Amino acid sequence: MGNNLTIIALGGNAILPKGARGTPEEQWRTVEKAAIQLVEIIEENPRVIITHGNGPQVGYLVEAFENLPPGKPRQTLDIAVAMTQGWLGYLIAHSLDRVLSGSSKPRIAAVVTRVMVSRRDPAFQNPTKFIGSYYTREEAEKLARERGWTMKPDPRGGYRRVVPSPKPLKVLEAGIVRSLVYSGAIVVAVGGGGIPVDENLEPVEAVIDKDLASARLGIEVGASRLVILTDVPGVALNYGKPGEKWLGRVTLGEIKEYYAEGHFPPGSMGPKVQASIEFVEATGGVASIGSLGEAYRVYKMEAGTHIVPG
Ligand code: ADP
Ligand code: MG
Repeated sequence: MGNNLTIIALGGNAILPKGARGTPEEQWRTVEKAAIQLVEIIEENPRVIITHGNGPQVGYLVEAFENLPPGKPRQTLDIAVAMTQGWLGYLIAHSLDRVLSGSSKPRIAAVVTRVMVSRRDPAFQNPTKFIGSYYTREEAEKLARERGWTMKPDPRGGYRRVVPSPKPLKVLEAGIVRSLVYSGAIVVAVGGGGIPVDENLEPVEAVIDKDLASARLGIEVGASRLVILTDVPGVALNYGKPGEKWLGRVTLGEIKEYYAEGHFPPGSMGPKVQASIEFVEATGGVASIGSLGEAYRVYKMEAGTHIVPG
């Protein structure tokens, strides 16, 4: 199966369990647990690139910016994403360094990664991604007027800012990431989906889906495996409904049919399946989706869902 180069995408729950407050102690505990899950994989195959989500962390920063004292400038969303790449890159790198044993102790590099998107992406006409604080309708209308934000009612109640989630077209640091991996480093990259920039390298107020960005990076570095680790054992048909069926090994043709039948909602399983389809189509490799708690078995294709060519 090719060169073994493996992209491992960590979901938000690998850094902060759902419902956690987000204290530094909680984060260290959770990230260290995730790192322990990766040790077996890395000891067998150190040619690994780790990617991660940043939803709660970027939300935290944006909220903090909104609550700065008057006169203190707010930072932009692209800068917030860059901050989370440093924040989570540090947690992941440091945790891995602590749990890997002496002989396999790698050099870990967290790379600040920019990802190109197109200003012509239809996502800019229809922002969908909720970020930051919850507001009343009146506050939301004021923010929309004053800052030009798009505000929408959140299904969980209240109004929130929505930003576009355009398609990742190109990972600017892909070549550097590839060199680092082939020189023996474990690399953390495209954190939070990457910092979005446009065709003219202007920063963009948007967020990129981390699963789609992971697939894009995998394609560009010539990876043969994409392993998406999350909080469910894999991909199911009729998820949470009567007739629920967990998928093991499925071909590209089969998963595309299931996708068209609407089994994978946008914002959760949808982008993971779409990322897997794009990766397998472009590389002829295998994409796996499974539980972080079974990382090694997912990597070995003994657990989880595996999308294979055909
Ligand atoms: P992550 O933070 O890892 O990206 P998400 O919450 O975005 O995690 O996506 C994982 C979630 O997708 C699961 O917790 C599950 O509730 C949901 N999900 C939706 N549809 C499906 C499906 N068809 N099969 C499995 N999980 C699904
Ligand atoms: Mg997700």
